[in-house]
Amino acid sequence: MPAKSMDELVSLCKRRGFVFPSSDIYGGLQGLYDYGPLGVELKNNLKAAWWRAMVHDRDDVEGLDAALLTHRQVLRHSGHEQTFTDPLVDCRQCKSRWRADQIGDACPACGAKDLTEPRPFNLMFRTNVGPVDDGSAFAYLRPETAQGIFTNFKNVVDATARRPPFGIAQIGKAFRNEITPRNFVFRTREFEQMELEFFVAPGEDEAWHRRWLEARLDWWEAQGVPRSALSVYEVPADELAHYAKATFDLMYRYPHGVEELEGIANRTDFDLGAHSKNAADLNLTAEVTENTESTARLAIQDTATGEWRVPFVIEPSAGVDRGLLAIINEAFEQEQLPNGSQRTVLRLKPHLAPIKAAVLPLKRNHEGIVAKARAIKRQLQGLGLGRILYEHTGNIGKGYRRHDEVGTPMCVTVDFQTLEGDDTVTVRDRDSMAQVRVPVQALESHMRGALAEG
Ligand code: ATP
Repeated sequence: MPAKSMDELVSLCKRRGFVFPSSDIYGGLQGLYDYGPLGVELKNNLKAAWWRAMVHDRDDVEGLDAALLTHRQVLRHSGHEQTFTDPLVDCRQCKSRWRADQIGDACPACGAKDLTEPRPFNLMFRTNVGPVDDGSAFAYLRPETAQGIFTNFKNVVDATARRPPFGIAQIGKAFRNEITPRNFVFRTREFEQMELEFFVAPGEDEAWHRRWLEARLDWWEAQGVPRSALSVYEVPADELAHYAKATFDLMYRYPHGVEELEGIANRTDFDLGAHSKNAADLNLTAEVTENTESTARLAIQDTATGEWRVPFVIEPSAGVDRGLLAIINEAFEQEQLPNGSQRTVLRLKPHLAPIKAAVLPLKRNHEGIVAKARAIKRQLQGLGLGRILYEHTGNIGKGYRRHDEVGTPMCVTVDFQTLEGDDTVTVRDRDSMAQVRVPVQALESHMRGALAEG
């Protein structure tokens, strides 16, 4: 059951150490957030799940990790310098600034109907490179991870001998100087993307586009965002990005409204064509301007005919931060218990949970129990299943509730019976709250079963 409001999520995220406003002690910096102790674990788990599904579980995708600072020519030829803009209006009365496409004819701050004509505003951050700060040597902070994939196309093909259909996957930061960052981590100025550029033969692009749409819907479902919470918006022709032939947006019901979680675009042969020299010889479908800066032809040569062919690109592009917000929202539940009390529980899929298991000693000042609990923590940690937390709390009930709230799938309690009796521990399940005695020897298989992905 999703949260009732964004405030509920923001408050949980701050209180329990998932997400903090960035530069908080200096009043914050708008549109920037820092991920705390549990946020970084959740984010890493989400990215690892994507990498497993997109790279390791497949035989047709390679990975990449390109630089964030990007050569100006890359973003010139990609079209970003010219077209990566939002229309901006200023309120002449209160001097506030807005995206023209997000407001009506009145200023949302003061209500005045005194707005300037919209002007294009480029969303890319640029920064000086090298010792001279006169604006002559600058680079952009990449606004999407995709371009690093296109510019490495030839390197990857040469290194791996791949032929279409195949893909290159990348996870990493992207930067956009959003005019109105808002809705918590939904729209920020620094965020992370998980992008796949999948190269296919022209003519096979539409079938692959639909295949990727289904694959991505299934993947989100496995992360705890069910099909019923998502809708597919087929972007109308007049709203498509300059490079796209068709785009499916996966729309999720966020607490603030239904908005894009992931975009799956058919980018045609635009990008590889635009970054190629002598593009006129390549029989492109897309319209690109002549590129005299590039030293490469980003195409595949047919060994039989000698002809060059530029593959089409299908791009599933997902936001890590927007994903995390959707996942927390879906997992969030305020549950009424039979005894009349209430608990907050985060029903995260176990493979995403920041802490896989907490080990609690019944008495925190009992040497034998503490030593045993620490030994169990080390043993479970050694399984490589993720973070196991030794919880030095002393109050078992409170420990359980705290771990419910952050989504820890199980708590392992060491008590007197463990030491004096049968070497068993109490394992308490987050979702059912059921408690069972499990022999220490059997903890490993118990955990592997409970944490299995899917
Ligand atoms: P929007 O229309 O909401 O600005 P977009 O269509 O510009 O998004 P894309 O360029 O398709 O977004 O980027 C791919 C993905 O990157 C998005 O689906 C989203 O998950 C993520 N993303 C884009 N901009 C932001 C942002 N400012 N903050 C957080 N995530 C973002």
